Amino acid sequence: MNRRNWIKKTGLWTGAAAVAPLSQSEQITERKPALTVAHITDVHIREGDNAPARFKKCLEEVKKHKVDFFLNGGDSIHAADYDNVTREQMLAQWAIWDDCVKNTKAHYEMHSCIGNHDPWWAGGNKSDEMYGKEYVVKRLNVPNRFYSFSKEDWHFIILDGNNKNVSLDEDQFNWLSDDLEKLPEKTPVLIMSHYPILGATPILVGGGHSDFKKLKSLFYKHKDKVRICLSGHQHLQDQTEYNGVKYCCNGAVSGFWWGKGDAESAGPNYYQETPPGYAILKLYADGTVSNTYFPHAF
Ligand SMILES: [Zn+2]
Repeated sequence: MNRRNWIKKTGLWTGAAAVAPLSQSEQITERKPALTVAHITDVHIREGDNAPARFKKCLEEVKKHKVDFFLNGGDSIHAADYDNVTREQMLAQWAIWDDCVKNTKAHYEMHSCIGNHDPWWAGGNKSDEMYGKEYVVKRLNVPNRFYSFSKEDWHFIILDGNNKNVSLDEDQFNWLSDDLEKLPEKTPVLIMSHYPILGATPILVGGGHSDFKKLKSLFYKHKDKVRICLSGHQHLQDQTEYNGVKYCCNGAVSGFWWGKGDAESAGPNYYQETPPGYAILKLYADGTVSNTYFPHAF
């Protein structure tokens, strides 16, 4: 976009912009991101409250941002983890999930993370193919409970924090260290976990990684690479930056679990002060990244 169009489009016909010297006009030319990525999290899909139709409408709105692919931060289904959830109830929730994302998955990649409410434990039998996290891996169609992949100039790491006190188990931590180590210098990295690693919301409500110091130190060791950590779980939106890494907790698609809210909700469907929504990330080839939270009205 040239400068004149930019001014027209933004309506920024101010004196300062109008007399900007040519060298500065180059700086205000819109940069093209290498990738535009949607981060949806905490969908908690279930029957009732018209949740499936509302989620489908939300997905259509997300696509208008011309995203290259989706990152799904977990708690995709309402809750399979409670002791009283039957196999049939768990399967019914996954069936709704499949129906809601069918259209989207036909046209976009969706890289998902496991949330605390996704695995079914009530079967109690480890040899049951539907027990625990392995079944979630299968239902979400991901390669493992933690994994990584590369797109354009960026590397993406998906973690499984569903371990003792919300942490990475030793195997996973070693894998993460190796994965970061073997990347070429200055490769920009995005990390997604269901739970926040650092941020404001763990101070307010808890719920973050207990191994945050260990992870912070690992990221500092690879400070030429790690750029941003995404999370959900809190249903609250926050963004912080520490040692050059952005930590973004991106609210919840389901807001107040698709309900109207409670006395603490700042608006309809809000959880505390956070409206239901999703984030759009612009990832640039030079490793810079923007994360914008978009409230949705469904
Ligand atoms: Zn959660």
